[in-house]
Amino acid sequence: MLTEQIRRIRQSHPDNLMARHFDPAYFASLCPAHQKRLQRLILTGIENPESIMGAYAMHPEDYDLFQPYLDKMIRDYHNVEGELKQVSDWGSAGQFDLRKIDAGLADSSMRVRVGRNLADLPLPGGMNKGDRLLFEQRMITVFLGLADAPGFGGRYLSLTPGSPYQIGEEQYQRLVAEHKMFKNMGIDPYLSAAGISSDWPYGRGMYESADGQLIVWVGEEDHLRIMVMKRCSLLSDIFDRLRVSLDVLERQGLCFARSPSYGYVTSCPTNLGTGMRASLHLQLPKLTENGTTLGPLKQLAGTLGLSVRGAGGEHTDAGAGGLVDISPSARLKVTEGEICRHLYEGIAALRKLEQNLQAP
Ligand code: ADP
Ligand code: MG
Repeated sequence: MLTEQIRRIRQSHPDNLMARHFDPAYFASLCPAHQKRLQRLILTGIENPESIMGAYAMHPEDYDLFQPYLDKMIRDYHNVEGELKQVSDWGSAGQFDLRKIDAGLADSSMRVRVGRNLADLPLPGGMNKGDRLLFEQRMITVFLGLADAPGFGGRYLSLTPGSPYQIGEEQYQRLVAEHKMFKNMGIDPYLSAAGISSDWPYGRGMYESADGQLIVWVGEEDHLRIMVMKRCSLLSDIFDRLRVSLDVLERQGLCFARSPSYGYVTSCPTNLGTGMRASLHLQLPKLTENGTTLGPLKQLAGTLGLSVRGAGGEHTDAGAGGLVDISPSARLKVTEGEICRHLYEGIAALRKLEQNLQAP
């Protein structure tokens, strides 16, 4: 039944990696308990055949347990071969000043985030309501403990009904519009099928540093999405702040799940490796035909190893003046420092293409 269902998806949606790499013989070789676990892992790709990956891990150890299957999907998606040994190297981002590309980029909106999950908890898709509430409580204690730490301070804002830190609907919507807070995950069919948005909005919230530039999402697709976001021209500022903040958080006793081969463990196999997405909001009116279409730009950016999202993030359209979100696509078998350089070079290349289009 399951095998037949997946076979049909493979025919109708050849890009669905869950279906492409599903091997009935491997599935049959698993004990009944593991078969059940694996079925839950790939349910999102069965319920949403148009998925690109079609699987979310439910527990950090899933990547070891189901390695023969997941490794094929991971290598296919990330386009990597040979030995995988993921090491962190933030390099030196000091040289990357967007003003060297164009003075008009001096005040660009930049955001660098990493997905992180605690090693001693199930991943969000495998958590129950109690787990979510306990995890949020644990994080609140960490944030309170950082009240006097340089670069921290700030406040915690909870979506949990009845929490002393709970914010109202209006404030929540304002934070979403400011790109600071995550959207209602319940309306995302991929996350819903995986159980990642279950119990919404319990155990969800965000921490914001005193200067508002360091933000930590609690209880989204990964336990934590840790990010620095601000308007400036120096990529180095953003990367350095994030690296230092991560060190401070780890020193609070947070142990992030890591795999020697796949790096930081994330719910979605597409984020494995650095778990990092470094993005810049850039206006490209010509390449997007005044923000009316993203298709041709996505294709062009793809050849440069860049992803294009709309002005409101994934699954959104371009904003005014053709405002788009550009980020390097690679996360695995690449270092943090390389992502920084790739973003800088990618922005320079796209900016040039846009300007050449404008030339008579
Ligand atoms: P991710 O999955 O990497 O966390 P999303 O695509 O879900 O990111 O977007 C999350 C939010 O972050 C959205 O509101 C999006 O517009 C915002 N965002 C992303 N990059 C930037 C940026 N460079 N400047 C401002 N906001 C950004
Ligand atoms: Mg997202």
